[in-house]
Amino acid sequence: MIASILPTYSRAPLTFVSGEGSWLTEQDGRRFLDLGAGIAVNALGHANPALVEALTTQAQAVWHLSNLYNIPAQQKLADALVDATFADTVFFTNSGTEACELAVKMARKYWYDKGQPDRGEIITFTGSFHGRSAAGIAAAGSEKMTKGFGPLLPGFTHLEFGDMAALAAAVTDQTAAVLIEPVQGEGGIRPVPDADLKAMRDLCDTHGALLIFDEVQCGMGRTGKLFAHEWAGVTPDIMMVAKGIGGGFPLGAVLATENAASGMTAGTHGSTYGGNPLACAVGAKVMEIIADDAFLAEVNRKAGLLRQKLEGLVAAHPDVFEAVRGAGLMLGLKCKAVNTDIVAAGYAQGVLTVPAADNVIRLLPPLTITDADIAAAVDKIDAAAAQLQGANA
Ligand SMILES: *Cc1c(COP(=O)(O)O)cnc(C)c1O
Repeated sequence: MIASILPTYSRAPLTFVSGEGSWLTEQDGRRFLDLGAGIAVNALGHANPALVEALTTQAQAVWHLSNLYNIPAQQKLADALVDATFADTVFFTNSGTEACELAVKMARKYWYDKGQPDRGEIITFTGSFHGRSAAGIAAAGSEKMTKGFGPLLPGFTHLEFGDMAALAAAVTDQTAAVLIEPVQGEGGIRPVPDADLKAMRDLCDTHGALLIFDEVQCGMGRTGKLFAHEWAGVTPDIMMVAKGIGGGFPLGAVLATENAASGMTAGTHGSTYGGNPLACAVGAKVMEIIADDAFLAEVNRKAGLLRQKLEGLVAAHPDVFEAVRGAGLMLGLKCKAVNTDIVAAGYAQGVLTVPAADNVIRLLPPLTITDADIAAAVDKIDAAAAQLQGANA
């Protein structure tokens, strides 16, 4: 008999009933250090008092308003995002994959309105992840995500991640857009070198193609800048945001330049819940906290601390780990042992990490994690690795 919850997830036998900061409490009372943060969602930790207050204050005023009317919290968040980024305009969604849907529609409508209705091709990369909608899986293109779901949305060309020569050959005057995560998340914490992001910008400019960054996982302070692309000193035309921006409340966004958004006129797109008062009240508070130089300086300092300790772990357990990679508090441990075994051993030690492709475990702690919790987390991963080594000896 089928489970009452559609069995699309494989879940660990853990049931968390409450959280505070970087900690989650299991129903049996055990406490876990959370280095997954709901996969980079709980950017400011669990039960953050400022976010609880923003949410409950809004809840007492009004929960939902249609986009038939003005929504002050939405305006406030849009203004903050426009102020802090390359963007001139923002559309709010409820998730990352809905942001992908709009990014694709926006790029295609742009060319349609420019008198090139057949210029719909979007270039993407192997190992990418853009969500589970029809456009999202077609964009990523992996067999794992697309098998059995055809016919797929057409118009995507998939290139090998990191193959800049292939990209230079593929971008033409018929390319609508290039879509890339500045740091691949699901793909195994694979940063795109700054020089490659710059070269992509140049290629797109040469051919007039739009550049779309998917910062759903790597954005909102995760890498130590508000958005990861800032490290490379280039800007996209369109950007997808979600995960951390809601701090745990469902919220996503598409940011765009005025030019890239020029096709999206009244009636061309919409969402019932997108930009609702509850999500935007929380999102506005998240932005206020994260888009702050002192906050981001702390993220960078803590990132250095965590990275240094992880390098020590790799040196101490050369049979279990191979290398540390990533940026800021978006770090990956490339494993020699099976990554899911290490994640499971972590559960036994009271630490939560997240597996990714390429035999990597991801560390995406709350950006507010304390130095003491970083030290405790690394000790627990150390114990998990020792446990695995013991088992294999
Ligand atoms: C998680 C993720 C998405 C999809 O977001 P959902 O909110 O799950 O739809 C898209 N792109 C990237 C890079 C992601 O990490």
